[in-house]
Amino acid sequence: MFRSARYEEPLLCDLSMVTSKKPQKVKEIPGSLMRTKSISLPNIDETQVVRHFHRLSQMNYGIDSGIYPLGSCTMKYNPKINEAIANWERFSCLHPYQPISTVQGTLQMMYELERYLAEITGMDAFSLQPAAGAHGEFLGMLLTKAYHQQRNDNDRIDVIIPDTAHGTNPASVAMAGFNVVEIPSTDQGMVDIDLLERTVSDKTACFMLTNPNTLGIFESDILKIASIVHDAGALLYYDGANMNAIMGKARPADMGFDIVHLNLHKTFSTPHGGGGPGSGPVGVTKKLEPFLPVPRIIKTKDGFDLLYDIPQSIGKLRGFYGNIGVLLRAYVYIKLLGKEGLTEASEIAVLNANYMKEKILKRCPDYELPFKQLRKHEFVLSCEKLMKEKGIRAMDIAKHLLDYGLHPPTVYFPLIVKEALMIEPTESESKTDLDRYIDALCMIANEPTEKVKKAPYTMPVSRVDEVGATRSGILTWKQIP
Ligand SMILES: *Cc1c(COP(=O)(O)O)cnc(C)c1O
Repeated sequence: MFRSARYEEPLLCDLSMVTSKKPQKVKEIPGSLMRTKSISLPNIDETQVVRHFHRLSQMNYGIDSGIYPLGSCTMKYNPKINEAIANWERFSCLHPYQPISTVQGTLQMMYELERYLAEITGMDAFSLQPAAGAHGEFLGMLLTKAYHQQRNDNDRIDVIIPDTAHGTNPASVAMAGFNVVEIPSTDQGMVDIDLLERTVSDKTACFMLTNPNTLGIFESDILKIASIVHDAGALLYYDGANMNAIMGKARPADMGFDIVHLNLHKTFSTPHGGGGPGSGPVGVTKKLEPFLPVPRIIKTKDGFDLLYDIPQSIGKLRGFYGNIGVLLRAYVYIKLLGKEGLTEASEIAVLNANYMKEKILKRCPDYELPFKQLRKHEFVLSCEKLMKEKGIRAMDIAKHLLDYGLHPPTVYFPLIVKEALMIEPTESESKTDLDRYIDALCMIANEPTEKVKKAPYTMPVSRVDEVGATRSGILTWKQIP
């Protein structure tokens, strides 16, 4: 029995009740029910089983195998102590219906994490509930709606988004019932201030922006942008998926943002990909705090509690309180790195991206860099020249990188760069690893076209029908012919 030292309740992962059950006596089976043929199952010995699963495990590629520079996704190293603590039974065995008095430590962790995120972003209050970045965006849009409704400003139905935005931005906007108004960027790869000025109106509910943007460029006119948006009576939303570029350096609140979401699974080190698990906490300034979803975590004179009675709240966003495991990993990560560590992480992430960018441009002129601005944590190359001259596409390069034992970058995003390779090395990589990646990219550009176009050669699966998979996805095992 696991028993907590402080509380009387047993924790809920107690398996003793299950394992101590006596086996039931088997009753006689009637002859008519007895099998006539012996059971036909393969006999596999342990060695074969171990080798099978070991081989499968080696087919996987993760950040522990090598560099994973998937732009926009911030695939940084996830310290093992995060896992150890997130798997600690004191947390992993908790049940959401346990009495509040028995989960004080978890509530304290969440309360403190909210304060740390507020410190990092400059926002006044946070909700830890959203389960992903996109979920945070959706909450942000619900808060936007509640804010305008409370002011009887009910005609604000447009949300403006630059054409560099992540695909989740317009999707969340549409899901929340707003119109998506997309504005093209300038030839500098930044928000077109004049166009924004002409686009905002008394119909504008919000402007959504990530800064640095998905090209890795910091929107240096952000204060001007904020005043245009605010003067029009709209709110400014920060897609914080790119926070890894500016932690400890600059705060979205000081840039004039009213609402932010962070991707804890990206910036604050939870293994992610394949759809989960994630956490996309949302932070707001004072004027939006009354609308945050319930329950809120509060500090009372006796400890911590969950507050449900908040009249202006948008209500519940999801079951229970958030992805506790991801919150714990972020909490441990922030505690371990501290203010110097977090700042240094961003500095090295930016240094690594710029080192790679400069060296690739010098050494392999086949890759081009549209937009000349300084970059932050990521940069987007174009392979258009390679396509025109040799017929090699971004996807071919991505596939051939696999033969070099390297994970490809994000391809074909953001949409405004033709044949895009979006590279985000993060702070985790050594100079040796960055150099190896640069070498591979340069070598691929010089290989025969036919060879690159047939890559990969070393993978269990070669090219897959990605368009077919999107258009007519088989989503359950039952449909497999
Ligand atoms: C990843 C990402 C998102 C969405 O986050 P999810 O957690 O995948 O839903 C939004 N915006 C940007 C810029 C991103 O990189």
